[in-house]
Amino acid sequence: MSIIKLYLAKGKEHSLKRFHPWVFSGAIKKADGEPQEGDVVEVYSSRHEFLGMGHYAPGSIAVRIFSFEQVEPVLAFWTGKVQQAYDFRNRLGMIDNPDTDVYRLLYAEGDHVPGLIVDVYKDTAVLQAHSVGMYLARPLIAQALQAVYGNKLKAIYDKSAESLPPKAPVDAQNGYLFGESSAGTVVTENEHQFFVDWESGQKTGFFIDQRENRSLLANYVKNKAVLNTFCYTGGFSVYALNAGASLVHSVDSSKRAIELTERNAELSQAPERHEAFAIDTFEFLKGKEDQYDVIILDPPAFAKSQNVRHNALMGYKRLNAEAMRKIKPGGILFTFSCSQVVDKNLFNNTVMAAAIEAGRSIKIMHHLSQPADHPISIFHPEGEYLKGLVLFVE
Ligand code: SAH
Repeated sequence: MSIIKLYLAKGKEHSLKRFHPWVFSGAIKKADGEPQEGDVVEVYSSRHEFLGMGHYAPGSIAVRIFSFEQVEPVLAFWTGKVQQAYDFRNRLGMIDNPDTDVYRLLYAEGDHVPGLIVDVYKDTAVLQAHSVGMYLARPLIAQALQAVYGNKLKAIYDKSAESLPPKAPVDAQNGYLFGESSAGTVVTENEHQFFVDWESGQKTGFFIDQRENRSLLANYVKNKAVLNTFCYTGGFSVYALNAGASLVHSVDSSKRAIELTERNAELSQAPERHEAFAIDTFEFLKGKEDQYDVIILDPPAFAKSQNVRHNALMGYKRLNAEAMRKIKPGGILFTFSCSQVVDKNLFNNTVMAAAIEAGRSIKIMHHLSQPADHPISIFHPEGEYLKGLVLFVE
């Protein structure tokens, strides 16, 4: 079967020539066939120059480019992609590192595999396809992972049922593509231990993207009372306990998350200084004036699309203002947003609006982002989704 060719309207080739990997549907002038969701297609300029190859999907982003060169997307091609990503993690010191055996191996556009995420938990890889094209490619990607890791990899778990677009025309079931594992393992992150359950946990099981920000928190918690809201599996809580916090309170509205946090606190050096609460953060904060020296706010993405962005901003503002009102004078607030549609400036402005509302004087100590195993292509700034500020509340 020959590959369908899409031709862009005149002048629409510039972003692809700058290696931005998205083709919007409005830029396509004609096609020499009728591509189906998930098909590999070739993209050409109006002058019939080859621009790139990618996966087709109906919708606003019509093609996600995985190669700016003409290639055969067979096993050797995908093995090359995995090897390149592996070599980069090796350069970051993440491969065979006994202190940290959990990292993101493939981060979509940042690793030139739009629509694909692979996280590594010790000897298990957890895959999430966000496009039908990548979903269909996953047997090859699983083989590529095995080719690169050899017997270091014991299992590959496909968790795409939750990550594919809601109307994707495939009947995705989560399950092992290779090997089997005991639904979870204890991993090590900067020498801290966590139980991770990829089968039933959120996303791939653990929020790997906060690794460096958790390390930074450890610098500011000795003998301090710490409140970790939206704690999920207690990443920030465990770092705080091991760094000598006098007490750590963890809050999450999910009972299951609180169970996982308690389990992880047990793996820490000071479980007796920890308490966890299954409750809404706003409820919990009621009446908690001047109790905490350090507060962490890491809510889920309040905005998943542009059209709900305004409400999301109101949500961030209200949450931050509340924490600013409650924190002890001289306290330190770690505040985050992982909404891709809320960029750094917008987030900073929203936090500033919260500070005005709270009437507290505040200094910015650090600007935070995502770690290098969640790389951002300089040509695809949309890849930056995690933003954070560390604030000194006077
Ligand atoms: N900080 C975490 C990741 C947070 S994910 C880490 O480092 O691993 C966001 C979490 O917020 C989820 O676990 C979700 O259950 C929780 N959540 C969502 N809405 C909430 C609310 N209103 N109050 C408390 N927790 C909430």
